[in-house]
Amino acid sequence: MHIDEILYTQGFGTRRVCAGLIQQGYVSVNGASVTNPAEDFETAGLRFAVQGTEWAYHEKAYLMLHKPAGTECSQKPSTYPSIYTLLPSPLRQRPNKGAVQGVQAIGRLDQDTTGLLLLTDDGQFIHRMGSPKHHVPKVYEVTTKHPIDAKQVERLLAGVVLDDDPKPVRAAACEIAGPHHLSLTLTEGKYHQVKRMLAAVGNRVEALHRSRIGMLALPEDLAPGQWRWLDMAQVEALR
Ligand code: URA
Repeated sequence: MHIDEILYTQGFGTRRVCAGLIQQGYVSVNGASVTNPAEDFETAGLRFAVQGTEWAYHEKAYLMLHKPAGTECSQKPSTYPSIYTLLPSPLRQRPNKGAVQGVQAIGRLDQDTTGLLLLTDDGQFIHRMGSPKHHVPKVYEVTTKHPIDAKQVERLLAGVVLDDDPKPVRAAACEIAGPHHLSLTLTEGKYHQVKRMLAAVGNRVEALHRSRIGMLALPEDLAPGQWRWLDMAQVEALR
């Protein structure tokens, strides 16, 4: 693929902008400057640098973000900064069928929830992960206002009725991790589900952190606000 097209697919701007970056000497491949926008490269495994920042070619982008508290999962946040401001601009500008779209969060976490969030520009993957038939377990570490007792755990596992649906929702797993700490596994994702489930058993969520989605655990060395590429084995394990 021509290097200007490669840069375009990776979110560095229009073909014209990308050609300009290349002609001005801002782009290198394997440490050697590339100044001809039409020079061809094999995309598989390609590593390149734009203005000194290293990138690897990804046909589709799949990433994880450690969402910090006080951020909104919306492109147009109402009160708090958007999680998208935590990503470098190429990830927010990757083209999709000719339009600038960038990566999108797969589902949403509340503004005060922290932890593992997945993002991608693969529309089919977003669709599949969001489907009610797709029961990827999600693990939440819950800090509660009142001490947790065995009765509450029993009710969360048996199923509680929320205000918008007569069908009970239940935790797939629920373990007491301390007097005010619970590890809760859900296989669906209704609006404010953890908070509403805890409220339904007479408790209240004080802090909420998502530590795992399916086989994928939030890495301990990924600090709040940091993101990382997923490798294809991790993506396949989520499908
Ligand atoms: N459940 C909630 O109540 N909030 C979240 O952010 C995620 C799950």
